[in-house]
Amino acid sequence: MPNEKTEAQKLVLVVEDEKSIADILRFNLELKNYRVSAAYDGEEGLAKAREENPDLILLDIMLPKMIGFDVCEILRKEGNNVPIILLTAREEEDDKVKGLEIGADDYITKPFSMREVVARVEANIRRNAMPQRASAAAADSAMPVSGDLSINTDSHQVFRAGKVISLTQREYELLTFLASHPNKVYSRVDLMEQVWNYGYVGDDVRTVDVTVRRLREKIEADPANPQYILTRRGAGYYFAVN
Ligand code: CA
Repeated sequence: MPNEKTEAQKLVLVVEDEKSIADILRFNLELKNYRVSAAYDGEEGLAKAREENPDLILLDIMLPKMIGFDVCEILRKEGNNVPIILLTAREEEDDKVKGLEIGADDYITKPFSMREVVARVEANIRRNAMPQRASAAAADSAMPVSGDLSINTDSHQVFRAGKVISLTQREYELLTFLASHPNKVYSRVDLMEQVWNYGYVGDDVRTVDVTVRRLREKIEADPANPQYILTRRGAGYYFAVN
């Protein structure tokens, strides 16, 4: 059973065409008790993501055959919500925002320290299985949160009007965190610390804005006039309950 995973050993797929970097990532992740699979171009990465069902993907952007953005976008369109961390070669703000907009969870800028990579993997890896499909029972036992939105915290699924919404782990965690503290405003720094589990924040707070925007597109009837996740200008975000 090549796909069988124990609780202790999560599978990380490394998609990186520079073999020396792929090797050092593998070495350091295996030290931390992860299983590691490697792919050396975008097409192989996409195939392995589909076949091996990894718990997290480290995805280089500049890859032969298919760039990392396309791999990420295809997986998300297929409804695959595996946590994806992009490896970006430059401090290009555009690359970071584009990556987050197409559904990546996080990014690491090269050159990176192994400590940073391991910390990001640990912060992003799926702690609970996120089922891809809704069951009628999961919808029935979901807790109403507000309006027609309901959350089943056992199955980690979110429903609007009884219909499951496909969220990434980070989107799910952001929504459940805000919804469990209704009407309380959290700054972007608060959210980076509480939801992303980052001890340091820097300029990464834009990650919060992009994730909120993506979440609104999924849960709000009109993302431009949201009714669930609202902005308190200059202060942060909150989940509105009347
Ligand atoms: Ca590359």
